[in-house]
Amino acid sequence: MNFYDSEKMSDLLKPHGYQLDNNEDNADLIVLNTCHIREKAVEKTYSELGRIRDKIKLRKEKTGKKSIVAVAGCVAQAQGKEIMKRSPWVDIVVGPQSYQNLPELISKVDPVKNNKYIDIEFPTIPKFDHLDCHISDRSPSAFLTIQEGCDKFCTFCVVPYTRGAEYSRPLTSIIDEAKKLVDSGVKEITLLGQNVNAWNAVGKDKNIWGLGRLIEELAKIKDLKFIRYTTSHPLDMDIELIEAHRDIDKLMPYLHLPVQSGSDKVLKMMNRKHTSAEYIKVIDKIRDYNPKIAISGDFIIGFPGETDKDHQATLNLIKEINYSQAYSFKYSSRPGTPAVVFFNHVDENIKNSRLQEVQDLLRLQQMEFNKQFINSTQKVLVLKNGKKNGQYLGRSPFNQSIYFYSDNNLIGSTIDINVTEAFQNSLTGVIKPNKNI
Ligand code: SF4
Repeated sequence: MNFYDSEKMSDLLKPHGYQLDNNEDNADLIVLNTCHIREKAVEKTYSELGRIRDKIKLRKEKTGKKSIVAVAGCVAQAQGKEIMKRSPWVDIVVGPQSYQNLPELISKVDPVKNNKYIDIEFPTIPKFDHLDCHISDRSPSAFLTIQEGCDKFCTFCVVPYTRGAEYSRPLTSIIDEAKKLVDSGVKEITLLGQNVNAWNAVGKDKNIWGLGRLIEELAKIKDLKFIRYTTSHPLDMDIELIEAHRDIDKLMPYLHLPVQSGSDKVLKMMNRKHTSAEYIKVIDKIRDYNPKIAISGDFIIGFPGETDKDHQATLNLIKEINYSQAYSFKYSSRPGTPAVVFFNHVDENIKNSRLQEVQDLLRLQQMEFNKQFINSTQKVLVLKNGKKNGQYLGRSPFNQSIYFYSDNNLIGSTIDINVTEAFQNSLTGVIKPNKNI
């Protein structure tokens, strides 16, 4: 989502004379777009701000030039005035719900007066009403935010506090942006939301539509070839969305559905609002409708109070689901979340060994998943050049990276690839002769 927000900020600033520069030393404006989801995000933000001051701001000032420094994103939202106090060389602090005001804030900054601006409001008029801006420089695959915020309040998560309550973007605004993206050359759109499948809004027939209906509508855009979405909550997997995985060819057979733990006791402590059996039931149903679908997930290892028995329940759930790939992290507390006050913290060594066990199992499953594609043909969207000469990187319908070689520039094409080898995190293949789409 931060990647999307950064692109939007860039789009917003272009009409004001700014353009992206790969060399930060030249920058007149530096926007540090921060994420609060990983450990030590706050410390990393302050150390990066120190580096920006020394490497860019002070060096420019020595040559008589000025640069503006803005901090955006969830750390900006959570830290607010503290950033100005600890890093007084920062000119602007802007939260994730108010970055549409960035051009105005920049225009007010006066380096001589040294005035500062903080905008971390949750505005009453949603920011998307202000984001109808020019779209440019997108790769063949683009993000499109359709939903923000979360009402689920998992006890380990900062999102409800930094991104606010659940908000669904109106249908017309999403369709307009999707069409603009496709007009600019985009072939694949990944719909984004902290709780993307909670999206709901008034549809064309004046009834409330869910994500399944939205995907059906987006699939009507002729040159849009692939649709994906992330991240979902198990409780919001409604039947229309599940049916969409059976009925809509453009919706890719891949679902990222976090569960976090296989233990009901831990799930309750996490306030996930579902049991492991309910999660498995949802996956079973999705597989009934689309048996080929690749399932991905997230796991938090060593949540406070997690016992060996709970850990075993997580391993059992992983075995039962059989993931195509999944993300797993050791638990670490986030300031401001309810779990900060939980006691019974799991010893770091135990966390490490449990994480190792979970990751070994997930790696095994991912390798087995990838191996079954050897000798198959996959429809691949070519995304960019690979690192080697003549090499290209594409994405399979199941969200696997596929490397292959070509003498022609194929970026943006959809092409059939015969898979020849499978690795832990990728596949390699060759272009299927005379069968380009
Ligand atoms: S559902 Fe996801 S975004 Fe919402 S509180 Fe839980 S982990 Fe955070």
